[in-house]
Amino acid sequence: METQTTKEKVNTYQVAQGRVKRAVEQLDLPDDVYEWLKSPDRLVECGIPVEMDNGKIRVFTGYRSQHNNALGPYKGGIRFHPDVDADETKALSIWMTFKCAVARVPFGGGKGAVKVNPRELSMKELERLSRKYMQAMAPILGPEKDIPAPDVNTNAQVMAWMTDEYCKIKQHNDFGVITGKPLDMGGCVGRETATAKGTFYAIREAARVKNIALNEAQAAVQGYGNVGYYAALFLNQAECKIIAVNDSTGGAYNPNGMDPTALKEYKNETGSVKGFPGSDNITTEELYAMDCDILVPAALENQITADIARTVKAKIIVEGANGPTTPVGDMVLNDNGVLVVPDILANSGGVIVSYFEWVQNNYNYYWPEAQIEDRLQQKMMDAFHYIYDYHCDCSDKTTMREAAFMYALKRLADTMKTRGWWG
Ligand code: GLU
Repeated sequence: METQTTKEKVNTYQVAQGRVKRAVEQLDLPDDVYEWLKSPDRLVECGIPVEMDNGKIRVFTGYRSQHNNALGPYKGGIRFHPDVDADETKALSIWMTFKCAVARVPFGGGKGAVKVNPRELSMKELERLSRKYMQAMAPILGPEKDIPAPDVNTNAQVMAWMTDEYCKIKQHNDFGVITGKPLDMGGCVGRETATAKGTFYAIREAARVKNIALNEAQAAVQGYGNVGYYAALFLNQAECKIIAVNDSTGGAYNPNGMDPTALKEYKNETGSVKGFPGSDNITTEELYAMDCDILVPAALENQITADIARTVKAKIIVEGANGPTTPVGDMVLNDNGVLVVPDILANSGGVIVSYFEWVQNNYNYYWPEAQIEDRLQQKMMDAFHYIYDYHCDCSDKTTMREAAFMYALKRLADTMKTRGWWG
């Protein structure tokens, strides 16, 4: 099988800005709107000194980017990853503004990050880092200001430490400051699986419009963290065959399909999906070139470059990750007739259920699981169809991604104008 070695040079921040610029042009809005939205309202970068278990101090770099709050308080996850930087955090905060506008949840966009490999830390070190991050950022966060949530390598436990630290600083419980918390701290049932559930609904609707029967389809999933695993599980429950998955250490392929839960257990034991019994090892390039119907990128940014896109045989790509496709990759996929359901729509299930969590925290009244499930499904189906229809109503060449950005920008620009911010 062909492998690709050439990598496009991609700056994620420029990619995000390019998407906004294109939408401004397509909607024929004044350049002022782009000037306003091309960078965040505020970027806080701080050194976070943490005492390690050996008594030594290590200083980690932390970020919070607050992009835009025209439609509501800033909202977005915090990721822990060794490769994060200011540009990536700013880009991700732009995406959050547009994601919330597409999903019609009353939030703006924000994102946080810490440059760290959390796997190198003990639980106690991770706790101290999480609390210190909150100490540094508390002045700019709050249920009406900016509300973080989990993202890559963070989870309900990290959110619990951060929320607890915030409550200590404020000297009262204020659980609405963060979403994605454990259930007993005001968390929402179904939040852990929400992003993947939403991605599954987006896949289901995309399959419908492409006349693909899910119970006869084959899928490949890149990334086997929270989003990748649950997306594979929900697809499998709909009788779609999971023929390939990978993670940062390698990949597994079995044309007869693999059981997502057994794969997860195997990964928990061995640290990798590679070597899963009955499967062949595959590279990421091979995964993307897989002869299948559905591809779900659920890892990091800039995975589907032009070179990779040229090898894609799938009919639909549904982006569980943020920013997995490069702009040139996008053009190639579009030219080849692949339907790409963009990140700001396809992975909005997480922030939709975060919205439900925040509403429940504000009211101190908690809804039954079935209600959350129904409302998530309804919101995802609505969002899919109004963006899909908008894309169909635009010119032939308008992608679903462009339609999503235009739809969100229209709401944003109108509100900013009504608020007297421009025009
Ligand atoms: N980190 C998730 C995302 O990128 C969820 C954000 C949130 O719930 O605020 O959409």
